[in-house]
Amino acid sequence: MRLYCFDDLRIGVGSGSDALVDVTSLVVDVAPPLRMPALIAAWPELRGRVENASRGGDTVPIDRLRIHAPLPAPRNVIAAPVNYRRHQEEMGGAHGVYAGAEIQTIETYAGFVKASSSVIGPDEPIRLPFAERRFDHEAEVGVVIGARATSVSREQAMDHVFGYVPLLDITMRGPEDRSFRKSFDTFTPIGPAIVTADEVPGPADIGVELTVSGELRQRGNTRDLIYDIPTLVELYSAAMTLEPGDLIATGTPEGVGQIVPGDEIVLTVEGIGRLAMRVDGAVQPVRSP
Ligand code: MN
Repeated sequence: MRLYCFDDLRIGVGSGSDALVDVTSLVVDVAPPLRMPALIAAWPELRGRVENASRGGDTVPIDRLRIHAPLPAPRNVIAAPVNYRRHQEEMGGAHGVYAGAEIQTIETYAGFVKASSSVIGPDEPIRLPFAERRFDHEAEVGVVIGARATSVSREQAMDHVFGYVPLLDITMRGPEDRSFRKSFDTFTPIGPAIVTADEVPGPADIGVELTVSGELRQRGNTRDLIYDIPTLVELYSAAMTLEPGDLIATGTPEGVGQIVPGDEIVLTVEGIGRLAMRVDGAVQPVRSP
């Protein structure tokens, strides 16, 4: 199933290829930004009703709706640094983004946190805050946690995965800490929908493709992850209890590159969705650190 957050933070389930059915009544007592995590937490009880709605409810064409991030206020966004070998190669080396620097991988860095306030959906543009700094796109698969996970093993990990979402990890390059460079407002676009894990053949063969204003920049597959998705759940659930609706950014394949105001980014995650984002400059440019 495909789950959306739309208009005044209502919840919808996809029906056919271009419509949804409003299922907000199932979680109407919950504060609007927390409706999706509440639906995910209650999924064992509510799943059948959502499924019935997707087959027989009153449909609304999606292009008539304002589509928000499917998780407008995730509690935690934890992210995998340098989780593809070819991305490691392009970051260091003589001609890399950080030329001459010794770039390690997730095996050394483990993880970092993105501010949850950086999450937006396709209804908003990405805003680059500083005119004189370099900002890059990173195409990623987002993992949405289902059942609470505390120190789960790799073998049990997929029991705690609810689904997947296309995710952009927008990044400022420079010497600052990762969490600062990747946590600006609008720097974690997700959507348009969460796709439940049962609709995806498996976590180890998900294709990712990204274009900027029509030019192909990134093409990868989760089979090339250094730490695969079950290993990420094991690693991060050892550090923090993961709750329904928490989000993991799984890392980006090679091909990261600069974005500038006016660009159109299209991220396609195979079987999961197509996220189209416009890039704007700052409303009031300010000097960078
Ligand atoms: Mn990333």
